Amino acid sequence: MSDYAISAVGKLAPVEPVPHSHEMPEPAELRALFHKESQAARRKAARPGLYIAVIIYLLFAFADILLVPDVAFYTIAARLVVGVTALVTLETLLRVEAPTQWLDVTCAGAIIFGYVGWLIPTAMSSNQESVAYYMVFGTIFMMSANLFFTFRFRFSVATSTIILLILYTVNYFIPSTTTYKLVFGAFYISCFIFTTYINFKLNRERYNVFLNALEARNQHREATERGRALLRLSRTDPLTELENRRAIDERLRELWNGWRQHGTAFAVLLVDVDFFKRFNDHYGHQEGDRCLTKVADRVRRIAEEHRASIGRYGGEEFIILSPLYSPEHVASLSQEICRAVEGLGIIHDERRDGTQLVTVSVGATYTRSEAGTKLERVIQEADSALYLAKASGRNCARLFDPNDPQSSDESENIAAVLRIAIERGLVSLVFQPIVSLRSGKVEAMEALMRLSMPDGTSVPPSMFIPAAERTGMILELGQWAIRTACLQLASNEHIRTISVNVSPVQLKAPGFAASVAAALGDAGVPGNRLAFEITEGLEMEMHSDVLRCISDLKLLGIKIWLDDFGTGFAGLSWLRLIDFDVVKIDRSFLHDCLTPRGKAMFQDIVGLLRNRGPKILVEGVESEEQMELLRIRGIDLAQGFYVGRPARADSFGSLLSAPKRRAAAGCPN
Ligand code: C2E
Ligand code: MG
Ligand code: MG
Repeated sequence: MSDYAISAVGKLAPVEPVPHSHEMPEPAELRALFHKESQAARRKAARPGLYIAVIIYLLFAFADILLVPDVAFYTIAARLVVGVTALVTLETLLRVEAPTQWLDVTCAGAIIFGYVGWLIPTAMSSNQESVAYYMVFGTIFMMSANLFFTFRFRFSVATSTIILLILYTVNYFIPSTTTYKLVFGAFYISCFIFTTYINFKLNRERYNVFLNALEARNQHREATERGRALLRLSRTDPLTELENRRAIDERLRELWNGWRQHGTAFAVLLVDVDFFKRFNDHYGHQEGDRCLTKVADRVRRIAEEHRASIGRYGGEEFIILSPLYSPEHVASLSQEICRAVEGLGIIHDERRDGTQLVTVSVGATYTRSEAGTKLERVIQEADSALYLAKASGRNCARLFDPNDPQSSDESENIAAVLRIAIERGLVSLVFQPIVSLRSGKVEAMEALMRLSMPDGTSVPPSMFIPAAERTGMILELGQWAIRTACLQLASNEHIRTISVNVSPVQLKAPGFAASVAAALGDAGVPGNRLAFEITEGLEMEMHSDVLRCISDLKLLGIKIWLDDFGTGFAGLSWLRLIDFDVVKIDRSFLHDCLTPRGKAMFQDIVGLLRNRGPKILVEGVESEEQMELLRIRGIDLAQGFYVGRPARADSFGSLLSAPKRRAAAGCPN
């Protein structure tokens, strides 16, 4: 069998060498083993063998009466004494569980004494002719010693030699012719030689059978051990030595069945290493592997303390299946994991969110009576809790909240609707104007996506955009949004620019810039009329793929805007990395301007951006006061309900004229 096996992750991995317990021992050891093992067979054969022998021996009493009637009394008496003594001795030895050699000695003794007990009185018979014939039967005793009983070779040779010697002694004294003595003696010798030879062959054959059986047993054991090793390998993650996804999926299924059948509740925790890709990119894959191993070891210890199982669920994601004692227990277990990983103190100074250590986010859920009938649902719940933990700034744990509409069944429905949204026309774009505070003119329109369910109810983007990002549907929807925006630009010369919100998932997708180029080309619109809004925050790790994509987009002439500035951690470092054309200050800063502290904060942010180059846009303008504030601060662009609400493309006419008036004259919306 090959020493390699296909591992669960699809690569060839060496199979642990099976300890060579199957190697054949030395010949002396083998013989000892053979004799040890043959003892059991000999013990088993002793009783039926001796009983049959004794019965046949006793039956020969009839031959005694026929052939040597004058001494028959003695021969029969001898037969009875020897037969009964032998059987009684054997039974006693068996009862006291005496060693096997004593059983052999008893059988051999029965043969020798049986022979002597018959031979001596027979030889004394006066019917010498019959004696001469009858003596031939003496060979039967020799045959029994060599062939009938399964003695060890040397022992049976010794027994048959004694028989031979007795015969020779009797033969010497018996009154018969020299010819008879010679012929009879030669016959006995040849009988001795033949039976000894056959006995030798038989014993060798038994030994060979034993060797073959031993070999077969060893092979079987080796195959079983190797099978076990392969099974272990196919269920183990080679890096962390935790159970792999296949194994943990099985375990999950078992727990799920237990829950369905007996109501044994359990919790599922997804543990994801924060900013791991960045760690890998910066410190290299070896260091990345080392980090994962350390995290896995630490989390495993905690899982074991809580009698939970743990597995590696994906690249940097682990899963814990824990018996559920209470939701509080799950929450504290999740917290313990976060703190423990942070406590490992693995440096990660590339994450740029203020923390410089490797941390994990944990999303947890547990089986509840209303949790639905699908196992996948449990994982989805844990997944959305994990998403929430990431969204809450990472290095924290979130327990799935069944009452949160974002994570309810609704979210599953949404995910399903998203799959058919484009072909069924359930998705649409509305446009919100962005005005220049200096000129009062509409500088751009922000395209905002809308989704309605098949029953007509509309779903807020805060619900369906995360669902689309989680399921990957954002790629298709985003592409659709870009194409639709391009068509709008093509059909409406008055709109200078449309800004489209672009998810980090899209920026990471290979070929995104090319697909945008194709959309522009198909609509016949120059790239500089399109802007992409990127939101700092969730999922956005500014790795090289994203930076390359952004520079490709810039080559197409597309403007890159930073959306919701100030809400995430990464904003400032992004400003260093990317040359944004517009930075949108999140509306919360404007709304906080009611307090002096909030006002100061807003001013600081504006100050920070002012000298860096990008135009400053403030979103969420809802009143004339706010508008005035922006003017005073010298903000470039404004967007908000006061300027204009998001509206369908067919109302572009009013959108394009109304904001101008409002921005200049300050009319309320
Ligand atoms: P965003 O890009 O920051 O969009 C601005 C959001 O603020 C919009 O919410 C808009 O309706 C709302 N808004 C505009 N003016 C005001 C105002 O004066 N006051 C208040 N309170 N809100 C105002 P909406 O349409 O619900 O979109 C929410 C978020 O969903 C967007 O935030 C954006 O991040 C995301 N989104 C919308 N459409 C798309 C899309 O096509 N693709 C992607 N990836 N994300 C989108
Ligand atoms: Mg936006
Ligand atoms: Mg925004």
